[in-house]
Amino acid sequence: MQSNGTDEMYAAGREAMVRDQLVGRGITDQLVLEAMRKVPRERFVPEFERAFAYADGPLPIGAGQTISQPYIVALMTEALQLKGGERVLEIGTGSGYAAAILAEIAGEVFTVERVRELADRAAETLRDQGYVNAHVRHEDGTLGWAERAPYEGIVVTAGGPKVPESLRQQLAVGGRLVMPVGTSPSYQTLVKVVRSSEDRFDSTNLGEVRFVALVGKEGWREGNAGL
Ligand code: SAH
Repeated sequence: MQSNGTDEMYAAGREAMVRDQLVGRGITDQLVLEAMRKVPRERFVPEFERAFAYADGPLPIGAGQTISQPYIVALMTEALQLKGGERVLEIGTGSGYAAAILAEIAGEVFTVERVRELADRAAETLRDQGYVNAHVRHEDGTLGWAERAPYEGIVVTAGGPKVPESLRQQLAVGGRLVMPVGTSPSYQTLVKVVRSSEDRFDSTNLGEVRFVALVGKEGWREGNAGL
């Protein structure tokens, strides 16, 4: 087969991203690093942005939304402490990139997106990339995906005023949930919640972050999200 210069260029960018942005900042989970070495982020961003696919920041993906910074995807995925084979829920599919990273590690990934255009496009990208274990649903994700619960990992990639009660209830005992929580729709603290027993939830803070707003029944109200 003839070599493809462009694919090689992306592969080199991906390697450098993992080394400088992830390993360089303290990401150590080998499953996370392997997944991020593998998933072609350039396929999850709009075509005109592909040259910036491995830049150290978020990128616009349409509908006023963004694909998260690679480091933030790695940090949140690492916080889920996956070993492989788990059932994981993601709220905020966006481009589908984080879902692909999760699908490399977990057994089944259920991901919910409230913007139909994004949900449709992400489902197509995930299918094209062969992620048959990633399932996309167009819905208000603050209510979770109850039919497939419980989940050993839940990741919310948009910022809300509190951890939705529905998501707490859909977390398996022993499971981990990671979500940006804040009193304003655009500044948050990344919170990790471990469900240590049926009615005990232990929270820790992982740092300050900036995410787009989680809009829905158990999130910010539409039109009031500071967008
Ligand atoms: N994980 C994504 C980043 C998405 S940005 C990626 O890898 O590309 C956050 C996404 O959350 C946006 O697409 C936004 O539309 C979505 N979102 C906001 N509120 C939501 C809700 N209540 N349910 C589901 N998705 C929501």
